[in-house]
Amino acid sequence: MSWPGLIDYYRERLPVRDLAAVTLHEGNTPLVEVPRLAARLGVEARVYVKYEGLNPTCSFKDRGMTMAITMAVAEGASAVICASTGNTSASAAAYAARAGLACFVIIPDGNIALGKLSQAVMHGAKVLAIQGNFDDAYRMVMGVAERRRVTVVNSINPYRLQGQKTASFEICDTLGRAPDYHVLPVGNAGNITAYWMGYTEYFESGVTASKPRMMGFQAAGAAPIVLGHVVENPETIATAIRIGNPVSWKKAEAARDESGGIIDMVTDAEIMEAYKLLAASEGVFAEPASAASIAGLKKLTDAGRIETGSTVVCTLTGHGLKDPNNAIKSCPEPVRVPAELDRVLAVMGI
Ligand SMILES: *Cc1c(COP(=O)(O)O)cnc(C)c1O
Repeated sequence: MSWPGLIDYYRERLPVRDLAAVTLHEGNTPLVEVPRLAARLGVEARVYVKYEGLNPTCSFKDRGMTMAITMAVAEGASAVICASTGNTSASAAAYAARAGLACFVIIPDGNIALGKLSQAVMHGAKVLAIQGNFDDAYRMVMGVAERRRVTVVNSINPYRLQGQKTASFEICDTLGRAPDYHVLPVGNAGNITAYWMGYTEYFESGVTASKPRMMGFQAAGAAPIVLGHVVENPETIATAIRIGNPVSWKKAEAARDESGGIIDMVTDAEIMEAYKLLAASEGVFAEPASAASIAGLKKLTDAGRIETGSTVVCTLTGHGLKDPNNAIKSCPEPVRVPAELDRVLAVMGI
């Protein structure tokens, strides 16, 4: 039987009763062991990446969106709305199309990766690009929701986190245990909250015998949780985590503290180095925000924080093709050669 999507697979652990799922068969993403990358980082642990870029719209947002849209349909909604740095809008637009709902997305003008924008428009969402950042877009969404009957599908929607927690279930089901460390990027902090919820549920129902330490990483120019205050003008190349006032701030701190983990930050230079290293050493292509987890693992390793022999999972939140401009910019250009064999061989240098 083919994978039915995460709602049908984990239905008894989700608050959906017997509702028909709005699904694009999201979830069941590969957990890829990355020994070459681990060696390059100098970490003597078993390192895996949870490759969430292989979801239907190429980010983990689909896990939450299948739940949010399924519930919106059940509640009789006719339209959904979200603010987004890109991936939420791509996912909301796709699942709304699947369900026959109207979709409105509010994005920060000019700060959204090309692949994500192309998805939102192709799936027929009404896209409003505002002159402001994500936090401004989010304020607009909450204002609209007060005045009009639209369902907000940002992660304030509790069903989003319910869907997202299934990534933890999949990791434990695949490994046969919980990892020792879970490393992931932190933007609005919904995902770290959801993973912790999933690990805790499996632990409390006796499926697993332990829980991981949650190790979250913000971008240095957008690190409100690390700094302990709102960042008015967040800046980072990793646009998916360019957030100055995270919606799930308190819950993320709880996940950090209950798990004995940390929330730290990595610079854009560290993110870009990890971004290229992952793609070149393992054949796994993730967008810059995702690489914050790899940069974070490097930082932890350099600080001697990862014990030899431990099991580490890093979430790669979105696919590298979401943001082709950053990829092209960060690598040498193709060498232009005439169509002559001798010239080709000379350039190849082998
Ligand atoms: C949404 C997103 C994040 C941040 O997740 P939060 O739940 O907001 O912390 C990180 N990376 C990518 C690619 C995303 O789309």
